[in-house]
This record gives sequence, structure tokens and C-alpha cells, in this order.
Amino acid sequence: MKNQTNESFDELERRRRVRERRRKQKKKQKQKQVIYIGGKVLILAAVLTVVLFVVNNVFQKNYVDVRAVNMPEWVNQEFITPNPYSRPGTELKQINQIVIHYVANPGTTARQNMAYFDSLKDQTGEKKISASSHFIIGLDGEIIQGIPLYEMAYATSKEKNVDTISIECCHPDETGKFNDHTYDSLVKFTAWLCQNLKLTEKDVIRHYDATGKDCPRYFVAHEDEWKKFLQDVKEARKKEIK
Ligand SMILES: [Zn+2]
Repeated sequence: MKNQTNESFDELERRRRVRERRRKQKKKQKQKQVIYIGGKVLILAAVLTVVLFVVNNVFQKNYVDVRAVNMPEWVNQEFITPNPYSRPGTELKQINQIVIHYVANPGTTARQNMAYFDSLKDQTGEKKISASSHFIIGLDGEIIQGIPLYEMAYATSKEKNVDTISIECCHPDETGKFNDHTYDSLVKFTAWLCQNLKLTEKDVIRHYDATGKDCPRYFVAHEDEWKKFLQDVKEARKKEIK
């Protein structure tokens, strides 16, 4: 009897220990699981933070409130009439590049060329022309702005018009070479735009670079002159421009 009791007791004790061990094992497993899940959550949070940081930086890097950019007083704002062919009023949300053009009409003035863009509103023919530019630089170096920075111009191509602004330049003859007044003004103004739109000379392109068009002719024919122009812009944008 005594033996049996002892055996039962031992058996009970053994079972109790087994239960205890299982309970502890389960507890340990649960703890491991919590640590595992916790670790995963931490890693996910870290990855999310990095992704958000990168995305934020990429999008903020070039972000400029275009409507808040005020033109210097040496730019003459003579906005053309809103119309479907030269000033459609489409909002430019972001300016990623500056496109340089030549007017391809030797000897004409900036005002004449802007007046031409404005006159497109009165087209009556069957085939309508769409053309314009934000800025035109004249033979005396004068700068006329015909379209606000935050509106699209029909200057380069369907794809490029949506995130670029355009500068047309007047020229004395067929070669398309700009005179010194026009050139100096173009360097200064392009540098000013870079400063105020958080861009650099790397964001300055020729119409030719976007579509292959022979524009601006002199800078297409003379690659070295184009490089020199970009270098001049680089130097100018590092200084204060008044
Ligand atoms: Zn062009």
C-alpha cells in the first residue's frame, strides 16, 4: 500500500514536472514569437523611414513654388492674351528644365516675335498653328516675358512642354549666332532662373536635345559654343545676380 502510494506520488510528481516543462516551453516559444514579430515590425519601420526619407528628398529637391517666384525688374512682363494656340493656361506644376531656342527669323525684335505669338489667337485658317515661349530675348538684350512661369507654353514638344520653360533668342542673320547683347542677357537670365528654380546648367537644354530640331541653330552647329555657354551659365549662377 505504502509502495503504491509512493508510486502514485512519484507518477503525479513526474506528470507535474512534465506539465511544468511544457508550460515553460510554451512560454519560451511565445516569448520568442513576440521577439520575432517585434523585430520584424522594427525592421519594417526602419525600411519605411528610409523609403519615406528618400522619396521626400527626391521630390523636395527640386520643388519650388513657381507662383512665388518674382521676376527681376529687368524682365518686361507683357503677357499675351490667353488663347488655345499660344497661351492655353495649362498649369506648369514643376519646372525641370530650361529650353533654349532661336526665333529663326533674322533681324526681328523680341516684341515683334511676342506679338506674333499673341496674334495666333486670331487664326481663322483650317490648319491652326500652336506656338509660343515664356521669354524672348531681343537684339538689345531686352527680355520680354509673354507667359507666366506657372503656365505651359507651346515651345518644344508635347512631352517637354509640360515640365520646361522656354527662352527664344533673336539673332541678326541666318547663322543664328546671337550678338553680344543677346548672349550676355541669355547667360545672366538663364543663371538667374537656375538660382530661383533650384536648377543647374545640367538642366539647361537646346530644343535640339529634346526633339532633334535645328534649334537654336548656332548652338547645334557649334557644339563647343554650346558647351562654353553652359560653362558661362555655371560661373554666373554662382554669383549674386542683380
Ligand atoms: Zn526651338
